[in-house]
This record gives sequence, C-alpha cells and structure tokens, in this order.
Amino acid sequence: MGLAELHREDPELAGLLDAEVRDQDTTLAMIASASIAAPSVLAAGGSALSNVTAEGYPGARYHPGAANFDAVERLAVQRARALFKAEYANVQPHSCSSANLAVLAALVPPGGTLLGLGLDDGGHLTHGSPASVTGRHYRAVHYGLGADGRIDHGQVAELAAEHRPTVLIAGASAYPRTLDFARFREIADSVGAYLLADISHIAGLVAAGEHPSPVDHAHITTTSTYKQLGGPRGGLILSGRDHRAPGPDGRTPLDRLMQRAVFPQNQGTPAPAAIAAKARAFALAAEPRFARTARLTVSGARALAAELARLGHRVLTGGTDNHMVLVDLRDSGLTGVIAERVLEECGILVNRNRVPGDTRPPLVTSGIRLGCNILAQRGMGPEHMRECAELTHTVLTAATPLGETEYRIDPHERTRLRERVRALCARHPLPHSTARAEAHGVLRTGATL
Ligand SMILES: *Cc1c(COP(=O)(O)O)cnc(C)c1O
Repeated sequence: MGLAELHREDPELAGLLDAEVRDQDTTLAMIASASIAAPSVLAAGGSALSNVTAEGYPGARYHPGAANFDAVERLAVQRARALFKAEYANVQPHSCSSANLAVLAALVPPGGTLLGLGLDDGGHLTHGSPASVTGRHYRAVHYGLGADGRIDHGQVAELAAEHRPTVLIAGASAYPRTLDFARFREIADSVGAYLLADISHIAGLVAAGEHPSPVDHAHITTTSTYKQLGGPRGGLILSGRDHRAPGPDGRTPLDRLMQRAVFPQNQGTPAPAAIAAKARAFALAAEPRFARTARLTVSGARALAAELARLGHRVLTGGTDNHMVLVDLRDSGLTGVIAERVLEECGILVNRNRVPGDTRPPLVTSGIRLGCNILAQRGMGPEHMRECAELTHTVLTAATPLGETEYRIDPHERTRLRERVRALCARHPLPHSTARAEAHGVLRTGATL
C-alpha cells in the first residue's frame, strides 16, 4: 500500500528507487562490503515498528507502548546468540562504527592506549585512525603486515609488550587472509589487554563456519549486519566465554558494561524496524542455504584470485582465504580510481583501495578490492570466475590512463562490454529478483525489469 502511494504521490522519488532495483539486477557487484538483503528483511526494515519510540532495553523502557518491540528485540538477541554461539548480544548499535566507539569508550579511558591494524594495511578508521575520534581520544598504536602481506604476529606481540594497550583490536576491512584469533588472545593476555574482534567483513563466513569464530577468544566481538549477513544497516555486539569477565573497574561484568555503553552512553533510541530486520536476517543466516552461499563465496574468491593472477595481475598475498581479493595495480599504469570508474562504466562494481606502501592519496590509491558475496548470492562459484576475471581484465586493458584520475575508453568497446555484463547478470539473476522488484513496486508501475 505504501509503495502504491509512493508511486502515485511522489513519482520522482519512486522512480529513483525503482531505478536502483534495476541497476542492482543488471550490474555485476563485486563490492566486498556488500550483500543483497532478502525481500523479507527489507519488509521488516520498512515495517510500522519504525513508529515506536522506546529508549532502554526490553522490559526496562523509558516509554510505554513497547510490548511488541520488546518481543522483537528479545527475538533478535536470542537469534544473534544462537547464530554466533554467543552468551551475550546487543542488537541496538546503529552501525559497527558506533558499536566500536561504544566498546572502546567503555574499556579505554580517555588518553588510554589501543593497538590495531593500521588503515593503510587494511585496518578500519575506528581502529585508531587519526581521521576518526578513536585516533584523537586515545593513543593509537598500529601494527602492520610482514613482507608476505600477512599480519606479523611477532610485531603485534612486540608492540603490545612495549605499549601495553588497554585494548588490542583484531579485525580488518581489507585483508584477504584468515585471522588467528587464538594467537591474538595470547598476545592480549600477555599484557593484560582486552581483545576486541571486529568481524564486520567476515561475519557471514563466521556464522557459516567458513572462518574460525572469535566469539570465545575475544572478550568482545563487533560486526556490521549488512556487509555479509544480508541484514539491514546496523551493528551488533557479541560476547562469549568472557561475557562475565570484570571490566576495567575490576568489578562490573563486561555484558553489563556493554549494555550501558550502547545506551545511554553512546546512543539514544534504538531503531526498532532495523532490529526487526536484524532478527529476520539472523534467522536466514542460520539456514542451510546461507551456509551454501558462504562456501561458494570462499571457493569463488579463491578461483577469482587465481584467474586474475593468471591474467597477469598482482594479487596481494598471492590469493585469499575469505571473500575478498586485493589487487595491486602499480604495474598496470592504472590507478585505483581509474580502475573503479572504468569498471563502473561497464557495469562492474569494485572499489579502489590503498595497498601497503601506497604513495597515492586515499581518493586515488593504487589498488582495487573485489569481493564475491553478491556473486555467490547470484549462484556464481569457481566455474564462473574465469568469465568474471576475464571481463574485469578486458575492461581494465581497454582503459588508456591520462594521468592519475582521467582516462579514455573507446565508446563502442564500452557499449559492447556493458552488454556482455548485462547478459552475464541476466544468466545469473539475484535471488528473489522478481520478488524484490514487486516489493519495490517496479512491476506495478509497468517499468521493465
Ligand atoms: C565497515 C567496517 C566497520 C564499520 O561498519 P559500519 O557498520 O559501516 O559503521 C567497522 N570495522 C570494520 C573492520 C569494517 O570493515
């Protein structure tokens, strides 16, 4: 009903939303930090629960009228705990960034020390980058990668011993290899630090058993709910075996600290419809189909890395263990931003990414990051990666760089490649693509798919 009304009353906005559905259907998205949410997740996220205002937690709200929301939030917490085999879950964070800020604020005193992976080596802004409040309010120390492009645990241990951080962070936004959470915990224990595992990028693999879980190794685990979990925009905090371990005051258990850290310390009202959508996404992630997609994601990424390397691209670390492939473009004459733009023109989405030792600014960069989450959701696995890699390679070689950000591509070649991408997408449609279109009212307006 709302969609019909939207189309009738606001065709300008409705047209943009419809166009987005069509674009998603016809572009080959290899964005490592994205996945496609099921129509039922989108429906829960757009539900009337949005109209409920209720600060606080189930059974302890600061507003009346939250009985249904209480039940929904309890369900989301219970499903998150079951999915990740966790003792504690908080489903209220509006994003993984806010989850990280809340956890750090609860554990690290102002000016205290944290140790995380550096931004240029694949870490996240909220792990102490100077561009984030975490780099200004805390003394941030960063570990990096060894010559093989992998995390250098010896360096992590040395820096931990030297700087004695309050929190050690294990997690990354651009790192294609398995994280050894047990080793990180040993290092954290050796200096009495809390271990925060940030699995924003790999939460789906962890849920499906395709990447070792940090939940019982780390004191606290955080994640986004949209990157690999097929959920709504949002964050999640988890804790396992150590959920009752004492906080920095030596008394208050971590689960209680986390409850307060999110509300009232860092957020006001939760987003009830987003929490309903999280509950739906956690249920879907517990189904066998999700695990099959996760397996396809990993085997696809491995094949994609091998094909790109065979075509002469420099694949960082020589391959991948997860959903992500990082390519160093410095030998090709292209910059990250040129590669991103020319691929987008031809209907392929990847994003520019800094590579270790990158001298180009963050808006230019010397690399790209590709991911297989959405390819796997389209049912594409190892046997389809030759075509994906070949198309990507053909687009990249079709671009003639004219400096760091400008380039030229023959318009006929561009049209031909765009059509090839469109045909590939049509052969491997997104799951529920018709249902998605209907959910958005596209069919009803008569627009073509
Ligand atoms: C993307 C990312 C975040 C931030 O997630 P948002 O939900 O977008 O705020 C935090 N940590 C890591 C490792 C990430 O990759």
